[in-house]
Parts: sequence; structure tokens; C-alpha cells
Amino acid sequence: MARIVVKIGSNVLTRKDGKPNVTNMSALVDQIAELRNEGHEIVMVSSGAVACGRGAVVPTRQLDSVAERQLYSSVGQIRLINIYNDLFGVYGIVVGQVLTQKENFSSRSSYLNQRACMLTMLENGVIPIVNENDTASLSELMFTDNDELSGMIATMIGADILVILSNVDGLYTGNPADPESRLIKEVKPGEDVSGNVIASKSGFGRGGMGTKSGIASKVSEEGVKVVIAKGDRPGVLLDLIKNPGCVPHTCFLPRTEGLSTVKRWIAHSSSFAKGRIVVDANAEKVLRGDSAVSLLPIGVIEMEGEWEEGDIVNIYGIDGVRIGVGRAGMDSESAHEMLGRRGGRPIVHYDYLYIE
Ligand code: GLU
Repeated sequence: MARIVVKIGSNVLTRKDGKPNVTNMSALVDQIAELRNEGHEIVMVSSGAVACGRGAVVPTRQLDSVAERQLYSSVGQIRLINIYNDLFGVYGIVVGQVLTQKENFSSRSSYLNQRACMLTMLENGVIPIVNENDTASLSELMFTDNDELSGMIATMIGADILVILSNVDGLYTGNPADPESRLIKEVKPGEDVSGNVIASKSGFGRGGMGTKSGIASKVSEEGVKVVIAKGDRPGVLLDLIKNPGCVPHTCFLPRTEGLSTVKRWIAHSSSFAKGRIVVDANAEKVLRGDSAVSLLPIGVIEMEGEWEEGDIVNIYGIDGVRIGVGRAGMDSESAHEMLGRRGGRPIVHYDYLYIE
């Protein structure tokens, strides 16, 4: 039996006129209910609040983008959750709403709190339906989109599979509308497919294939299999789980070793970093290598920011490209004293270091 996170995009959940697409929702609920009754554990990450709200209320004056998002999501989220509640109710399945925001992943204790919430719901047979709390999230500290949120949830709860349901069959070698493009069926761990992604996004949601493929690569590196498929294909979810050969999709194969819970949290924490550490070329080579090494003062050439022991720091190469993120083993003042020196404690210990 698998633990599955199913992310459903706005374009699958809403019609062109902004009304909820109850046909698609109902088809997906039928499939999720079947999987649940077979013993799989399911967490849903559902977008569509803003898109549904847009079809329900007309603002009395021109609103800025933040006010618009707050108004639409406040109205749309209850519509969505009510429909889910009714549809799952037919099967006697209890669902619960989790509205979260990026700050809830910013410290290890809030991360573990969020994780505990989700695990308690699963343990009690409740299907969590997660969305970003768009009425409260600050623009500068929002999830890029719900693809990012679903990736965080999947690694956080140690999911076996993350299914991202979109309005295309998966990742193509070019524009999906171009007959020359073909669907990429499988992406191996470490394989770089970013060159295939076209920078456009379509329809209602915030995400696009660029973020989907970036998130999928990262999450699969952390040990979760990620599948991108078209959400309104009849039976898509059941096929993906039971008969993947008969439905078009892109599968990002997981790296088998996976990561510890603390490393999984660190891997998604770079936006909370308090400091910036630049390492020399030799240190970069060693950190990127296969052996388990810590970030030592000897390899560091520059540091910026003030941090306490336990805060998140980003690690860059001399070319300015971020190579990793870690939890500092000492505060910035002590780190400055050690800068460039041989020996001494690591600035970031291997157990708390995630190299991208
Ligand atoms: N949280 C947004 C909503 O429910 C969707 C974000 C996204 O498109 O990924 O409308």
C-alpha cells in the first residue's frame, strides 16, 4: 500500500468561466475513494480557490493583485471544500481542510508541527485537502505555486508517490501543441530535463511546466517518485497507480537512498536563509562529490549576514550559483573567526547539509 500525494491544478478544477468543474472533481473523487478503500493513504493538494472565487464575485472597484487574491480565495476555497465534502460524503469518507503558508515550514519545530497534523489526520482515516492560505500569505513569502507546496508535503510526510495532475499529459521535448514534440516518459535521477521546458504557462494556476519539472526533479532526488499527468483523462489516477503502462505521463524516478527528515526540511528551506556562504572551487568540488563531507571553515572565502547556530544558510560557489543549503552549526560571529582556517568544527555538519 502506498502513501500518495495528489496535487490537482486549477485548470483541472475550474471551467473556463471560473465555475468549479464538478465533473472533473467528481471523477477524481471516485478514483481517490477507490484507492483509499483499497488501503492507500491519500493526501490531496487542491488549487482552484482563486479561480473559483473569480467566477463567484465581481469586485466593486479595481483591486490590486493581493486584495484580489484574498477576496477570490476567501470565497472560492469554501466552494471547493464544500463540493469535496459532499462528493466524499457519498462514500462515507471524512475529509479535513488544511490551509497552510510557507512560514509554517520555516523552522524545524513548525515543520514538525505541520507534519504531525497531517499524520494524525491520516492515522484517523481523514483525507487532508491542502491549499495555501491565500487570504493570509504575504506575496514575498508565498509558495511559488501549489506544485512547490505539494512537493514539500510529499517529502514531509515521506510519500511514496506525488501525482501532479495538470492540463497536459506531462513534460514534452518542446511545445506540447507542436506535432514534433514528444512526451518524455521517464526521467532518471540526476537527469537534467530543464532544457526541454518552455517558459510559458497556461490558464488559471500560478505554476507552469517549468516549476513542475523543477519540483519533480528535486522531490524525486529526495526519494519520492513523481508523476505528471493529465487530470481529466478518464481513470487517470487508477491507471497511474495500478496500470501505468496504459496512460500517458512523465515519471521522475526516485533516488532510492532518499533523505532523512531533517535533510528533507533543509532541502526546502533556502528561502528562509539568514546567511550566505561562498566557498572556493576546491570545496565546491568536494561538496558536490559522492562522499559524506561537512562544510569546513578552510573552504570558505566569503560570508554575509548574521545568523545564530541552527539557522539556515545558503552555500554558493565562486560563480554565484547556489550549490546547497544547510543548518549552521555555529553562529555567524564564530564562523567569521574561523574563516579560511584549517581544522575546527564544521560550519555546517554533513547531517544538516543538502547539496542541490
Ligand atoms: N492557492 C491557489 C488557489 O487555490 C493556487 C496556486 C497555484 O496555482 O498553484 O487558487
